[in-house]
Amino acid sequence: MGLSKGEAFVFRARAFAESDLIVTLFTERWGKRTLIAKRARRFDSPLGGAFDLLNRVEVVFYPRARMDLVSQASLLEGYTELKRDLEGTSTALAVARALDRLLAPHQEEKETYGLFRRFLDLLERKEAPIDRVKLAATLKVLALSGHRPQLVACVACGKRSGSVSFSCERGGLLCEGCARGGEFAVSRGLALALDSLLRLPLERSGVVALSAEDAVLAGEVLSSYVARCASGS
Ligand SMILES: [Zn+2]
Repeated sequence: MGLSKGEAFVFRARAFAESDLIVTLFTERWGKRTLIAKRARRFDSPLGGAFDLLNRVEVVFYPRARMDLVSQASLLEGYTELKRDLEGTSTALAVARALDRLLAPHQEEKETYGLFRRFLDLLERKEAPIDRVKLAATLKVLALSGHRPQLVACVACGKRSGSVSFSCERGGLLCEGCARGGEFAVSRGLALALDSLLRLPLERSGVVALSAEDAVLAGEVLSSYVARCASGS
């Protein structure tokens, strides 16, 4: 692979040496990559500001075995409305972090890339309820990375009625008879709401009714499940 050019989201950036920057980018064509941007922190650098978190950039780089070398980068979308809002920013960063943990490096993930772009667009335009869009995006990211949770039937015996809990270890619901302790207690209503968020287009997340309390619980369940999936992959 010679000099490569394409678009990407900025997931992480940290200072390195005197004036360099090490960045983790989620590229559209080559998946998640770690790159070094030489002298990017100098005030006169042509890369200045391109690698702010959550930016969508066009990047030109030399692929290398350990760390790619950035040649050029320019800003495509800075999501300024989203970043003006603390809740929007923390929501976007939380889903970016989940993706960062679940994505294997250097694998093309076009569908996931498109999903993340639609997610940021929705937050930028403030067109959907933030709690449900966050849950829906996290569920879809899990499904696309091979960890689709089972939210309708018991993963052990297939039972579809009665009370349930969510097992991060098993990746889905367990009925009362199959639960072994240590699962999250969830209502069947919450499980079905999450199943709807998983299946509906991201843009329609607002049609799913969810209490504020259930949204918080679902956030805890999914963040534990992401951690579990990331540690096992
Ligand atoms: Zn069961």
